[in-house]
Amino acid sequence: MTLLRLLLATTLVTNLGLSTISHSADSFNILLYHHISSTAPRSTSLSAEEFEGHLQYLKDNEYHVVALGDALKAVQTAQPLPSKSVVITFDDAWRDIYEQGLPLLKKYDYPFTVFVNTDPVDQNNRHAMTWDMLRDLKHHKGSLANHTRDHAYLVRKPEYDDVWLSATLANIEHAQQRLEQELGHTPKWLAYPFGEYNNVLKQALKERGYTAFGQQSGGVAAFSDWQALPRFPAAGRYSSLKTLKTKLASQPFPANYAAFAEPVIRTDHGQNQQPLLTVNLTQAQRLGVRQQLSCFIAGSAKKPIWSDKLNFNIAADNPMGKGRNRYNCTAPIWGQKNYYWLSHQWLVYGGEAPPKE
Ligand SMILES: [Zn+2]
Repeated sequence: MTLLRLLLATTLVTNLGLSTISHSADSFNILLYHHISSTAPRSTSLSAEEFEGHLQYLKDNEYHVVALGDALKAVQTAQPLPSKSVVITFDDAWRDIYEQGLPLLKKYDYPFTVFVNTDPVDQNNRHAMTWDMLRDLKHHKGSLANHTRDHAYLVRKPEYDDVWLSATLANIEHAQQRLEQELGHTPKWLAYPFGEYNNVLKQALKERGYTAFGQQSGGVAAFSDWQALPRFPAAGRYSSLKTLKTKLASQPFPANYAAFAEPVIRTDHGQNQQPLLTVNLTQAQRLGVRQQLSCFIAGSAKKPIWSDKLNFNIAADNPMGKGRNRYNCTAPIWGQKNYYWLSHQWLVYGGEAPPKE
């Protein structure tokens, strides 16, 4: 943000008498939920009581729950966001979001976004919301976006050729078209099923004007990869406020994310299951904590190797197993109790048929 912009923003805020809101953030964090239910699989669920605990925590601690569209636009156009801005998202459009989540979101008057698989809605699946329910969400600060038509594993395919790419894009475009037909204007936002993507798909989506979201942890800033934006999973084992607090207070680790390594490791092509992740820092002067950088792979600490002042590398000590794996790094923010947070998700895949999840 330029100094002039900051001054203008501050003046505007003061003139409007909104001095209680400090518009000073250039990043925001996104929370990711699936079910709000006590009976759905725990790994992607939290109870209505736990969810309300999160909403109350945000309120009590002066977080500003902002609409995804407003937050993305502010960061893309270098306009300041309220400090402590956070966005609430749900994947899959489960009916329990309507039944258990919406009453609470209305009570707190918070905006939110639901990423929808359109086939279950079109097929009147009793666990999915109906189009009428989704239309109702739009009247209560809800925005709807694309999660493919059928929640397919987009990159667990034998080849990443033209046939694969056209079929994958057709799947995404079909969902986009159904959302537009039923709900009117729908932003081109895609949440990858299971947070799985590869660089070819990312590039094709960029060319088609999509912003896309993964399931790796971290915050969103101008230096983010706009076709692999991170979100903090906040259900299942991540629903405890104790751990969520640290994530909510974190800031995006200042790195060049678009240059991160290809996330799919093909064992059938003999690719290295201990891939090297090179992290190129931006704003290195703000980091200033080289010796306090901590990285973790599969729950174990992993010492980063600095190649120069702005670049470090990490790689797993042991070959990663099939499926999704993550490298995580954090560093204390100078002068604060909070952390910069970085995560990269890998998919180790050998060409086999995808599991039923
Ligand atoms: Zn999903």
